[in-house]
Amino acid sequence: MENDAVVGANHESRTTSTITIKGILSLLMASVGENYDDSKRVISLGMGDPTIYACFRTTSVAEEAVADTLHSHKFHGYAPTAGLLQARNAIAEYLSRDLPYQLSSDDVFITCGCTQAIDVSIAMLSRPGANILLPRPGFPIYELSAAFRHVEVRHYNLQPEKSWEVDLDAIEALADKNTVALVIINPGNPCGNVYTYNHLEKIAETAKRLGTIVIADEVYGHLAFGANPFVPMGVFGSIVPVLTLGSLSKRWLVPGWRLGWFVTNDPCGTFRKPKVVEVIKKYFDLLGGPATFIQAAVPRIISQTEVVFFQKTIDHLKHTLDICCQEIEDIPCISYPYKPEGSMAMMVKLNVSLLEDISDDFDFCFKLAKEESVIIVPGTAVGLKDWLRITFAADHSAVREGMKRIKSFYQRHATKSSKQ
Ligand SMILES: *Cc1c(COP(=O)(O)O)cnc(C)c1O
Repeated sequence: MENDAVVGANHESRTTSTITIKGILSLLMASVGENYDDSKRVISLGMGDPTIYACFRTTSVAEEAVADTLHSHKFHGYAPTAGLLQARNAIAEYLSRDLPYQLSSDDVFITCGCTQAIDVSIAMLSRPGANILLPRPGFPIYELSAAFRHVEVRHYNLQPEKSWEVDLDAIEALADKNTVALVIINPGNPCGNVYTYNHLEKIAETAKRLGTIVIADEVYGHLAFGANPFVPMGVFGSIVPVLTLGSLSKRWLVPGWRLGWFVTNDPCGTFRKPKVVEVIKKYFDLLGGPATFIQAAVPRIISQTEVVFFQKTIDHLKHTLDICCQEIEDIPCISYPYKPEGSMAMMVKLNVSLLEDISDDFDFCFKLAKEESVIIVPGTAVGLKDWLRITFAADHSAVREGMKRIKSFYQRHATKSSKQ
């Protein structure tokens, strides 16, 4: 579900050198085995678009809502640029369920997926000399957007040995008066982290101390299946202003509908200053949002989707994650420091010293694609060399078969001493 990005040839090298996951995936697909076993179907544990698997079909409630708004003939026209009022209201209400205060439709702007919400945030905050703090590993669309907007990127580390928590000391050291935002992704892609209430509170306090705001990418909101429940960053909106970004894409399994949101969580009114609101509104005049009939269906999609639909997705992800983790135990060259508690992806550490002729994560992924027709993302693409990102949003048999092939790949490439 990562978005591709067209990189203009006339831009600076930092734009063209930003790796997108889509870009890497297409290179990997192109190298899928010509000379090896042609009968092997390609298994992608790389891309986060689960809709290719029948087990990840959206609810008929959503399909019917969209069909009805389309057939009503009422939504063939333009929507207001900030979004249809009923959709903004429904999203405000949906997000307020988990907050200690009430959002209003004025806080909500409808975007083309969470991707556009990311780009809007960075565009809104850009100014000469601005820098933004991004997680490593992370989601490369942030780097790409920042490069186009000439916003300097400063990476802070997520800590694998601490459930991929934010390194708050590093943030204190990185930030300065030109820091415009701290970005967190929770539940996390690519790490599967689900942060505790306490950790999120500390993040909010740190951002407050540094005089910056928090951008909370909650595109995987509620896709949590471990010990920690999902807590939205907006809960701490009275400590620090929060921009909450999200979409229907992941929880409702409709990434192609391009229905996302950019939401100001700001009970103290920082964003309410007339000038700020005016700038945001004006900027949305530049953007075409998602199709009006999709927006019009949002109130029904949100209010009528049944809990069993969400539960089914979560049960499925939990199960495929378990399969992944079990299989990894049998593959000595990879290990995981943390078992994901949410989202659809995990990071595993690659130990190349156990492999005869594999130089790094890139080499591993390209040879794996060529020899086994299995696609996984090299960690370098998300900021961590010699790690791998595995997406477990696939059906059971694909995950099992994919992991089996990674195992035979390992056995074929293992150093003699590691085989013993
Ligand atoms: C998928 C994803 C997005 C993009 O969401 P869309 O709604 O498909 O645009 C943004 N952030 C993260 C972390 C994602 O995994």
